[in-house]
Amino acid sequence: MSFAVFLDVDGVLNSRTTCERTPDYHVGIDDLRVAVLAGAIKKYGPTEIVLSSDWKELRPEADDYVYLISKLAKYGLELAGKTTDHYNNRGEGIQYYLESHPEIDEYVVLDDNEFDFRDYPNIWERLLLTNGIERVKFASKTPAIEAILFMDYIKEVS
Ligand SMILES: [Mg+2]
Repeated sequence: MSFAVFLDVDGVLNSRTTCERTPDYHVGIDDLRVAVLAGAIKKYGPTEIVLSSDWKELRPEADDYVYLISKLAKYGLELAGKTTDHYNNRGEGIQYYLESHPEIDEYVVLDDNEFDFRDYPNIWERLLLTNGIERVKFASKTPAIEAILFMDYIKEVS
């Protein structure tokens, strides 16, 4: 039994008003938002973070990837894995990941876009749509219990 957070980065750990830049001059990551993620995870319990963001396409040695890993590490977080997409079908990538990791029986998806998530009812009910992690809402009218809990924890710590 385990819990996973599928993590998008842009629009979750930053927003349009983020001033910080990555080493390669892309929009950076806000420490306060990583702190909110870490706080919610601490309340929820043992969590595997799976990178679903486009940042997963970076080479592990790329400066921006090292920057991401170090931002997470600053708050005691590390990545357990990453999804693989075809043509930006991010939901399909998450579904593949779940099928190959049957030990994950609870999960939420943090993302600022809907992509193809609606095609996967199990994912849709666990999708938390963000505009920066602290501004979070359910995608589904019938969210799963772990999505309800995780959103509560985000609100408690932000
Ligand atoms: Mg995004």
